Amino acid sequence: TKKMNNIIEPSSGQEKPHFVLVPLFAQGHMIPMVDFGCLLAARGALVTIVTTPVNTTRIKSFVDCANADGLVIRLAELQFPCAEVGLPEGSENVDLVMETEKIDKFFLATSMLTEPLVAYLRQQWPKPTCLVSDSSNPWTRDVARELGLLRFIFHGPSCFFLLCSHNVHEYASSGDVPGDFFQPFFVPGLPQKIEVVRVQALRFFDYPGWEKFLEQKTEAEATADGHIINTFRELESPFLDLYQRALGKTIWHIGPVSLSNKKPEDAIFRGDKTIAEEAQRISNWLDAKDTASVIYVSFGTIVSNSPSHTLEIGTGLEASNRPFIWVIKQWDITPEVEKWLPELEERTRSRGLILKGWAPQVTILSHPSVGAFLTHSGWNSTLEAVSLGVPMITWPHLTDQFLNENLVVKVLQTGVALKPQMKTPSVLRESEGLISREDVELAIEAVMDEGEEAHARRQRAKQLAIEAKRAMEPDGSSYQSLTLLIQHVLDTAVTVSDTDPDPDPNPNSDCKDA
Ligand code: UDP
Repeated sequence: TKKMNNIIEPSSGQEKPHFVLVPLFAQGHMIPMVDFGCLLAARGALVTIVTTPVNTTRIKSFVDCANADGLVIRLAELQFPCAEVGLPEGSENVDLVMETEKIDKFFLATSMLTEPLVAYLRQQWPKPTCLVSDSSNPWTRDVARELGLLRFIFHGPSCFFLLCSHNVHEYASSGDVPGDFFQPFFVPGLPQKIEVVRVQALRFFDYPGWEKFLEQKTEAEATADGHIINTFRELESPFLDLYQRALGKTIWHIGPVSLSNKKPEDAIFRGDKTIAEEAQRISNWLDAKDTASVIYVSFGTIVSNSPSHTLEIGTGLEASNRPFIWVIKQWDITPEVEKWLPELEERTRSRGLILKGWAPQVTILSHPSVGAFLTHSGWNSTLEAVSLGVPMITWPHLTDQFLNENLVVKVLQTGVALKPQMKTPSVLRESEGLISREDVELAIEAVMDEGEEAHARRQRAKQLAIEAKRAMEPDGSSYQSLTLLIQHVLDTAVTVSDTDPDPDPNPNSDCKDA
């Protein structure tokens, strides 16, 4: 195993920490969890990532790359019980279960991994020390309890969202939060005035029909040994302090985890496919464009746009007269879209690149030719743009995306809203007319123009990127936070193994020199 710098060596009597990571099987949750695994492994921890056959195909090349670099990351592949819950075979990731009525089956199937995971982990050597579970996997509480493991919650969204949605819930009956879901109010308990409507500030799973799941999730969070958030102190300092106080638990801020992808090929292999050739083609295309001139447009992995909204985006991009890369997900390419898309492609051929399906997002955002990112404000996309200094145009569609928009536009001031004051969640296909080509054109102008305001916005974005990189460097805030997490696990796990009734050292371990 290649010797790496910055490894945290256990002191005598301490085992090397073995982290078991249990992501939610959704791209926006698996990608940061795998990045987090790489960060842990680079600091000398053993890492096991729980996966299923379909999900393995998405992360394997990335994990292989990391292992070839000397990290020790194992994949614990469990069979996903589709048939048992009545899901079609292969429905192992949220983006493969897009019909809303089936999503509860997906979560049921996920929770059925409890026993297989316990059985799998019992056979592992070195023994697992702790479990890091996505906040949407409350069932992992039983796994950790069964095996006597420390358990930490890994949050997908921003601390700002977690705090705001927590406060809105806490103050719900105080009179500070209106009962009406569409009436504007200021989020209580924040250092600055942030206006929302309630439907934009709900906690994850705070929806009708999910009461029991939300209760289990809240319970699992309240009983965890601490929380981990993909953010950095310089970005969310007041919100980290307030949320930590509200939780009464330690929060480790360890991001932006996407900056763990130091080599270009790391960034390419994240996510769905090995698209090295495609990434090269895109890079060549970007090389031929002026610095900070290209608008990158992508809406993450879950949200869908109606055909009319897709048309408005396309014609808005055309009207902007600026170069663009526009990623359209397969399920947004309806027969209607298929009809007019080739014509638009033809008209914008000299300056537009339309990518269908999956794009190497971090590779694109890293390129100096990219000048702005029209995003749905998913937290990973937001943080990737922050860490690469790219100003944003925000069009949130659902869940935490509305508050992420507020963070970017009002707090950090590194983006503009595509449509300020939009109050309706736009995830529903039938919600039409929310944005127009003029909105797209105006927002692009606002971000890209040469005026003072746009210039100051770009400067702020650049400054944040510098701070993000610094946070991840040795002795930066996130680096130190990760050190403290690993140290905490080492110190606390000694206590756990002291009380372990069945220490079972296996001298034939193939990982003892890892
Ligand atoms: N992503 C990507 N290529 C795509 C679409 C998405 O690499 O074509 C990545 C993106 O870089 C981010 C993640 O997928 O890391 C999406 O997460 P986010 O939280 O932004 O949105 P979600 O998909 O969860 O709504």
